[in-house]
Amino acid sequence: MTTTSCMMDVPLTIELVLDRAERWMGGCEVVSRRPDRSLSRTTYGAIAGRARKLARALVAAGIRKGDRVATLMWNHAEHLEAYFGIPLAGAVTHTLNLRLHPDEIAFIANDARDRYLIVDDVLLPLYEKVVASGARFERVLVVGAHGTHESYEALLETATEQTTLPALAETDALGVCYTSGTTGKPKGVVYSHRSTILHTLVAALPDALGVTRADTLLPVVPMFHVNAWGLPFIAAMSGTRLVFPGPHLDPPSLLDLMAQERVTIAAGVPTIWLGIREALDGSPGKWQLQPGLRMVVGGSAAPEQLIRDFDRLGMTLIHAWGMTETSPIGLVSRVPAHLADADEAVRYRLRAKQGVPPPLVDVCVRNEAGDVPADDRTSGELLVKGPWVAGRYANDATPERWTADGWFRTGDVARVDEHGFVQLTDRVADLIKSGGEWIASQELENALMGHPAVKEAAVIGVAHPKWSERPLAAVVLKAGAQATAAELCAHLAPTFPKFWLPDSVVFVDAIPRTSAGKFKKTELRETYRDHYAKA
Ligand code: ADP
Repeated sequence: MTTTSCMMDVPLTIELVLDRAERWMGGCEVVSRRPDRSLSRTTYGAIAGRARKLARALVAAGIRKGDRVATLMWNHAEHLEAYFGIPLAGAVTHTLNLRLHPDEIAFIANDARDRYLIVDDVLLPLYEKVVASGARFERVLVVGAHGTHESYEALLETATEQTTLPALAETDALGVCYTSGTTGKPKGVVYSHRSTILHTLVAALPDALGVTRADTLLPVVPMFHVNAWGLPFIAAMSGTRLVFPGPHLDPPSLLDLMAQERVTIAAGVPTIWLGIREALDGSPGKWQLQPGLRMVVGGSAAPEQLIRDFDRLGMTLIHAWGMTETSPIGLVSRVPAHLADADEAVRYRLRAKQGVPPPLVDVCVRNEAGDVPADDRTSGELLVKGPWVAGRYANDATPERWTADGWFRTGDVARVDEHGFVQLTDRVADLIKSGGEWIASQELENALMGHPAVKEAAVIGVAHPKWSERPLAAVVLKAGAQATAAELCAHLAPTFPKFWLPDSVVFVDAIPRTSAGKFKKTELRETYRDHYAKA
């Protein structure tokens, strides 16, 4: 008897997903909201045909295996075509983040050696700035009105059946995303066909994001932010009806779309849902949403109060954790059967944690003493490994993000409870060092956002002459709500040691955001850097 298996050797490539979407889900609808707010409708069948045309046209135009083709686009059907068409040509989709500074986009595009660019007409002014900042693209294809540029549609029309597409191996590169560079130079993470297929299969599971054929999915998370968390691939694989929001991402516009298109599951960072909650509370009954609507929330911690408030509104928030380096799904929080009857407080606390890893991913939390005990108290750095976790960066040979025994170091601080649920307490870079002790800014933020008057709160460490650093809270109050700094500190006092309480609470109109919609603490630290100088 030989030891090799009897199974067929089928490479796990994205073609499998596209073929299935075309053959078995061909009539399933994909809706895109355009910049003029009109809705256009197409199907997976039509998208598959156009993706193949794009692939053939790219090959005929000289794109070769491993070449990078960049996109600078909002979420819409043509972007989905590119997600499939570019890899079918053997090339690598590089989704450029349109919220970055043009200099940064230019650096990233050149670093990735992007050859062609597909860009939305409404983003041409940004494109011009990116080129002025030194980006070099050989060819630029414009979706929509194209002025003097080459049109994307015209390129598709050049496709002929005679062009053969390259054979794909599952280890071939499929896409590249750059980390935001919050903590240093942006680094490229290259996903393979195999890593993408495995991520797609697992992320769709009921205990992961739980996306099905019965759903209508609205990815609010941009397709340039870790491939919209893999949701476009998940939807195509599952035959899920897709609704793309285009450029209008303000709460009323999103709520109009969710109501009109009967969305059953949506995904985005917490700041999106903080805004949606405010809009719903401000105009009760205005939007008729689907009963049991679910929202996948990740990118930053989902405050427990937000989870509670959405339950009150008949909507379920699903909390997940991930990174560009983890494709991104690395932890998801779902209450297990044996805790279904636990106290409401216990269940909400679990749901506000980041959760447990999905199948095929493993995590551990480690400090100087080794793996931390599951005591919900001892913290360490979260480490992760799995088939869709980066083993290296494309443009950076420094190995310090990986341990000698093969784990990726996330830079997140976490602890583990007796149920194995991981809770992030902070990013290493955001921890506040006060008088030799650590203070976790995220824990304070989440507690502050549990106060009924608080809409948003970000806590930062500010240099202090005596304590090295002391916490400062920047707080946005809900419309019409009142609270004093003393009241907010009194709200925190029962939960935290006295030295954790912020020395200052500053009330602001808005907290600066990163390109992914997270609180931009680097900017806050800059703004308040001298706040305690004379303390
Ligand atoms: P960045 O936020 O650095 O621009 P990523 O988009 O890759 O880059 O984000 C990864 C980081 O986002 C994680 O390391 C973690 O700090 C944070 N993050 C993601 N999801 C969550 C979550 N559910 N709770 C808390 N933090 C999260």
